Amino acid sequence: MKSDIQIAEAAEKLPIEEIAAKVDLKPNDLEPYGRDKAKLTWSAINRIRTNGHLGKLILVTSISPTPAGEGKSTMTIGLGDAINNQLHKKTMIALREPSMGPVFGLKGGATGGGLAQIIPMEDINLHFTGDMHALTAAIDTLAALVDNYIYQDNSLQLDPTRILLKRGIDVNDRTLRKITLGQGSKFNGIEHESSFAITVANELMAILCLAKDINDLKARVGNMLVGYTVNDEPVFVKQLGFQGAIAALLANALKPNLVQTIEHTPALVHGGPFANIAHGANSIMATNLALHLSDYVLTEAGFGSDLGGQKFMDFVATHLDKKPDATVVVATVRALKYQAEGTTDHLNEENLASLREGFKNLERHMNNMRSYNLPVLVVINRFATDTEAELNLLQDLIQEQGLPVEVVDYHNQGSKGGIEAATKLVDLADQNSAEIVPSYEESDSITTKIEKIAKRIYHASAVEYSEKAQKQMVELTKMGKDKLPVIIAKTQYSFSDNAKALGAPTDFTLHVKNLSLKNGAGFIVVTTGHILDMPGLPKHPAALDIDVDNNGKISGLF
Ligand code: ADP
Repeated sequence: MKSDIQIAEAAEKLPIEEIAAKVDLKPNDLEPYGRDKAKLTWSAINRIRTNGHLGKLILVTSISPTPAGEGKSTMTIGLGDAINNQLHKKTMIALREPSMGPVFGLKGGATGGGLAQIIPMEDINLHFTGDMHALTAAIDTLAALVDNYIYQDNSLQLDPTRILLKRGIDVNDRTLRKITLGQGSKFNGIEHESSFAITVANELMAILCLAKDINDLKARVGNMLVGYTVNDEPVFVKQLGFQGAIAALLANALKPNLVQTIEHTPALVHGGPFANIAHGANSIMATNLALHLSDYVLTEAGFGSDLGGQKFMDFVATHLDKKPDATVVVATVRALKYQAEGTTDHLNEENLASLREGFKNLERHMNNMRSYNLPVLVVINRFATDTEAELNLLQDLIQEQGLPVEVVDYHNQGSKGGIEAATKLVDLADQNSAEIVPSYEESDSITTKIEKIAKRIYHASAVEYSEKAQKQMVELTKMGKDKLPVIIAKTQYSFSDNAKALGAPTDFTLHVKNLSLKNGAGFIVVTTGHILDMPGLPKHPAALDIDVDNNGKISGLF
């Protein structure tokens, strides 16, 4: 069988102008990056967003991820291709740009798989149009400017031990989790501890994904909390005057990137926060533009309904020009068996008992998405090893819960692998007139928001706060920031904060370790369990299988 990158490289790519024309964009609306990628120009962006048109928005989420693979991006792309090419409706896909760190680690890229991919996959997974590099440069420039301010001036008496801004790099590098800056001579700056977070976990990534235009971007950067003075007063970027320079570094990266699927459906790929440590959705600019340009927009929220799904419904959707009209929950037979067995050793063998037990994980994700009051379609991503008995049992279990379900094979067949699923999804989205019922009210306190998510979505029985988190809560209340939305950082592998608790755990305590104000993004990051914002590399990193030949042809990406 051909690998994802072999399929992607063999695919016929249309010139990006032809892809743009499918959604009525003209060549001069584009700033091409080569022949197969383009950013939209500001004049196009400003024209499109006031055109008065809004398509239907479909959110794709999934069961809890496992090493068995779920294929959420593959399903998002497959469904988009099916609605576009089989149902002949004007469709766009809005996806996150992959972070480079995981491409060389365990997870691989984020461009889908098989015949359901966005291309050029090697560009998108590596340097793409440079957005990630621009972000990394902006993150580190801001950190350097702050340290230089302390060294040169510091009339505000900013405490070097209480700087909250981290440095950033788009590499999984555990050795950078804790560092000491300014060692050696006094000419090297003030010595203090600091740390790196992966680029996509930085507040600037969230800001890029939430900003509506350059002015909004600049204002949000200005509102970022830098740290505290020796007298405990908060200091914001705008007090130091760095927001203009940082916005200048990011202005080009704020324009969404247009690419195509293997089947030539237009896709906007822009911004890429993870859903376990950040808000987990592509940029608001990209989704809004897609809604203004087409009749059906497929977008994806990272990881399961407990992470990306919840954050999309309660936070991201409040920034969009319209709310979602339907949601898709992706499941696989293999991943559900893994939920019961906790090992990948026997996934190729039929096991109805494991599937029945592992279904509890899907059931909770289905109910989570249903609790937002929107229509839900369950899509089973078929793998070659699935047996008919397993597929039939899983469909029965889902239907017993009153939800529509379709088995699809976009991976092997492209858009023809799930025409009925596309038809059902379009009907659900067309018929929907319901309003989202959020997990929490805007006016709820931080603790109430955390508690509501923990109980309704995770099914925790209690929430416990570390002493540090309790102190931070007092600080946030003092600053008048106790009503902001919360973004919970939690392991993606379990509903609980213990990655090993598979299936559908109940009666557990959620442990809140840290609260961190992201004042420019406009939310509080609530860290639970042992979640880290700088991933490490595994014993056998994907990098060992990645290569390039003398003609520049890259292999080993997936
Ligand atoms: P996610 O978005 O859930 O992380 P992806 O869509 O990126 O998952 O897919 C992860 C990997 O699984 C890709 O390499 C893809 O080719 C593979 N994959 C997805 N669906 C199937 C399938 N039905 N059969 C075989 N491999 C698949």
